[in-house]
Amino acid sequence: MTRLLLIGPPGAGKGTQAVRLSVACNVPAISTGDIFRSNVEQGTELGVKAAEFMNAGKYVPDSLTNDLVRSRLNEADVEGGFLLDGYPRTVAQVAELDDILAGTGHSLDVVVLLSADTDEIVGRLLKRAHEQGRADDTEDVIRHRLEVYAEQTTPLIDIYAERGLVVEVDGLGSVDEVTTRITAALDARGIALFAS
Ligand code: ADP
Repeated sequence: MTRLLLIGPPGAGKGTQAVRLSVACNVPAISTGDIFRSNVEQGTELGVKAAEFMNAGKYVPDSLTNDLVRSRLNEADVEGGFLLDGYPRTVAQVAELDDILAGTGHSLDVVVLLSADTDEIVGRLLKRAHEQGRADDTEDVIRHRLEVYAEQTTPLIDIYAERGLVVEVDGLGSVDEVTTRITAALDARGIALFAS
């Protein structure tokens, strides 16, 4: 019954690792980025509003993000645990998540910080831009997203470190290597892992 967060700069490989970790920990992965992107694709009201911020490399406002996460975390399939990828991203979202979890009587078990070197990240994101054509992967927007991450999201690392929850894992290397590093770190903390 694991409740974990995955934090890291854009391009660190959170999405890829989130899918694998959700299998390893047997919990659903919830990615706010994926939820926004699917709303954009479907042209929902939320998608239209979110796209404006995402395409500029900005965070979607908390007024649109918090309710979405609150309702997702109150669904039945997350009662036994969850992996949150890309939320919280701001100090205000940390408080919101604390409140949501207090309401369900649960607390976090671990925060995985996936770190990566900035040059490596920019290279990866530009490559992804060519391959996937994501509207928020142009060079200017990438640079802005990294600035926003440094300003708004890095303070979360200290907050969760003070709570003794942070496990830092280097995101450089092959996808398999990184997964092995993360699962080893989780295992060392006594987090239950399932064979896939
Ligand atoms: P990345 O980690 O590469 O930035 P994500 O898929 O996690 O990609 O997020 C894509 C975009 O979705 C972000 O740049 C932001 O605009 C929006 N977004 C995702 N999660 C949040 C959040 N918790 N708060 C605000 N905006 C978010």
